[in-house]
Amino acid sequence: MSRFLSQKLQGLEAYVPGEQPRDKRYIKLNTNESPYPPPADVANAVGKAEIEDLRLYSDPECTALKSAVAKQYGVNTENVFISNGSDEVLNFAFMAYGDNGAIFPDITYGFYSVFANLYGIKPQIIPLRDDFTVDINDYCGKNSLVVIANPNAPTGIALELSEIEKIVSSNPDGIVIIDEAYVDFGAESAVKLTEKYSNLLVVQTYSKSRSMAGARLGFAIADQSIIQDLEKIKYSTNPYNINSITQIAGAAALNNQAYFDSNSKKIAETREYVKKELINLGFTVTDSKANFLFAKSDKIGGKELYLSLKERGVLIRHFESKRIKDYNRITIGSREEMEIFLKNLHEIIGGKK
Ligand SMILES: *Cc1c(COP(=O)(O)O)cnc(C)c1O
Repeated sequence: MSRFLSQKLQGLEAYVPGEQPRDKRYIKLNTNESPYPPPADVANAVGKAEIEDLRLYSDPECTALKSAVAKQYGVNTENVFISNGSDEVLNFAFMAYGDNGAIFPDITYGFYSVFANLYGIKPQIIPLRDDFTVDINDYCGKNSLVVIANPNAPTGIALELSEIEKIVSSNPDGIVIIDEAYVDFGAESAVKLTEKYSNLLVVQTYSKSRSMAGARLGFAIADQSIIQDLEKIKYSTNPYNINSITQIAGAAALNNQAYFDSNSKKIAETREYVKKELINLGFTVTDSKANFLFAKSDKIGGKELYLSLKERGVLIRHFESKRIKDYNRITIGSREEMEIFLKNLHEIIGGKK
């Protein structure tokens, strides 16, 4: 840290992303990426002409992409905000709506507390129940910024749409963010509630079910007034937040929704298969509706398992925080990748009583 850094930022604890090692090729089950490539529509849409057009600034209004997203979700373009990864719209929303505090679970996406700290928001952090489920009563009638990942991360546990609606309807004077990074793998989206509730901001990403984490593309759907707030912040920070190649790729990807649906279904099936295998090996596994499992063994500690698998070339995600240090989060890869994961797991656990 230099002596010039703003006092306000000196105590900031930055978000720590999952490892992205470049030293060797791992079976990468640690950052919830898709094992499948984007559809061919994407490669076909980005050719020489699009590369030559890189000399121009990108469309700050993301016109074509916004239309494609609006069409896909049955909303108007005025209800869509396009962001540089969903992290960016989450950042903007904390900046915009945190004046009366923010409230979210103790075990959830780690970025929420980073954003709260960044903006000097004192978060109210609510412990999940012992079984890692959300008690929605904790989030009703708060009228501050409520942030819920649905399904939650890293537990994968989802709320019903009726429960989400209760949270939203009971907080008419606060924004409720529903972070749907994993919704396509088995939960119900709250997008349709955005027509009815002007305090609901639904956030989604291309990074997980849409196989485009490297493109850095996310979006949010909400009442027009909320989208206008987010646009104001965008035009005050980085008007060209989405590069032109990503805009083209993102719109082209939506031409082939069937491809994504089929991949999400495959991943959910593989998830259920791996879950059963883990239970057979004595693991405790949450009821995940996401593209990962969250599991602990009574035979081996979370960190030890993570390290043993890493040595064998398989990366999973371990978290140090106390309540979940015995667990690991295991991204669902292809069936072949998961067989290698399970084989290594058998070998590691096999030697333990
Ligand atoms: C992965 C993830 C995101 C952010 O993803 P981007 O790559 O920035 O779109 C947001 N929320 C949750 C819960 C996530 O797991």
